[in-house]
Amino acid sequence: MSKQYDFLIIGAGLYGSVFAYKAKQAGKKVLIIDKRSHFGGNLYCENIEGINVHKYGAHIFHTSEKEVWEFVNLFTEFNRYTNSPIANYKGKIYNLPFNMNTFYQLWGIKTPDEAKTIIENQRTEFGITSPKNLEEQAISLVGNDIYEILIKGYTEKQWGRKASELPAFIIKRLPVRFTFNNNYFDDKYQGIPIGGYNNLFESLLNGIELKCNTDFFEDRDFFESLADKIVYTGKIDEFYNYRLGKLEYRSLRFESEILDMSNYQGNAVINYTDVEIPYTRIIEHKHFEFGTQDKTVITREFPLEANSDSEPYYPVNDKANEKLAQQYRSLSAKEEHVHFGGRLAEYKYFDMDQIVYNVLKLNL
Ligand SMILES: Cc1cc2nc3c(=O)[nH]c(=O)nc-3n(C[C@H](O)[C@H](O)[C@H](O)COP(=O)(O)OP(=O)(O)OC[C@H]3O[C@@H](n4cnc5c(N)ncnc54)[C@H](O)[C@@H]3O)c2cc1C
Repeated sequence: MSKQYDFLIIGAGLYGSVFAYKAKQAGKKVLIIDKRSHFGGNLYCENIEGINVHKYGAHIFHTSEKEVWEFVNLFTEFNRYTNSPIANYKGKIYNLPFNMNTFYQLWGIKTPDEAKTIIENQRTEFGITSPKNLEEQAISLVGNDIYEILIKGYTEKQWGRKASELPAFIIKRLPVRFTFNNNYFDDKYQGIPIGGYNNLFESLLNGIELKCNTDFFEDRDFFESLADKIVYTGKIDEFYNYRLGKLEYRSLRFESEILDMSNYQGNAVINYTDVEIPYTRIIEHKHFEFGTQDKTVITREFPLEANSDSEPYYPVNDKANEKLAQQYRSLSAKEEHVHFGGRLAEYKYFDMDQIVYNVLKLNL
């Protein structure tokens, strides 16, 4: 006997919501649930003082896939925000990503040839031919100055470990630009939805049955009985009741403040790259939308190990976790009625555009 819904989608984040839209378009009956009190997953914005605050960390949409860009623009208009973060190292300011502006700030040089010579000399100075850890890898790619000032402290805070104890493979390449170009992303398209990400989700989920504050595991049998197929975007190890062990995540603690001033730092993103300052970034949310409000909201991001009270944000990129994830993936591949998708169910970091792309490629 056919069940009440064709699809039960667990998680109203980006993966689940794009999936729900596509399924509805294909004429399927869909129920989407989320254990949080809202849709949008980690893209959710909270309006504070008229400013869209990115509640689970700053999100900038960027892609080189025309199909993905055209798809998201069907639902909401994007502004022309271009991510140009700044680094603050012991009170001095540097442009990111590493480009001619940064090299001028570091060494006072003005031409690409001068910058190339300094970087090349520093790369070879240490004679590292086969890097054994992240520190050696970074120095062999960009030399000591860029590493010490802009990479070391930030990376150590992010991973909670010394760079000399982190595996080299975490950094595969460190792009260095010999133009005066502070645009962080090389992608063809980027921007922020005007009015925040919630608009995107309101349009995607328009006409779709959504239940918030609803945890799949609180009544698993009931939920499983509702639909022919389940689309699961929660944690893969939790789906199997952690029977093979727990996958580890890095998390973030956010400390937000409303300030009685119109402009605190003059930029949406400032990275703090020395190890003495415990947070990695300060986000000033209004600058994502060129806000002119009287007040401003800033958020400091403190990295930490995820535990049962904190949100799982970044899969831990090491051999033990990858091995365990692979074992869970082997189990999930055998499921006939459950489709696993998204960052938690695949235990993989995806940018937003990859998530959209992956769902658009599915045959429903
Ligand atoms: C701090 C941070 C910054 C980022 N910045 C960027 C950026 O600038 N640009 C970019 O492209 N990408 C960025 N990303 C990546 C982006 O967040 C992801 O691509 C995207 O959120 C993945 O969507 P998802 O649907 O897979 O996961 P999620 O958004 O996490 O959605 C999963 C949903 O499932 C729900 N759920 C889980 N378990 C259950 C359950 N048992 N029952 C019911 N519901 C459940 C959760 O509550 C959640 O809402 C960033 C990620 C982080 C962590």
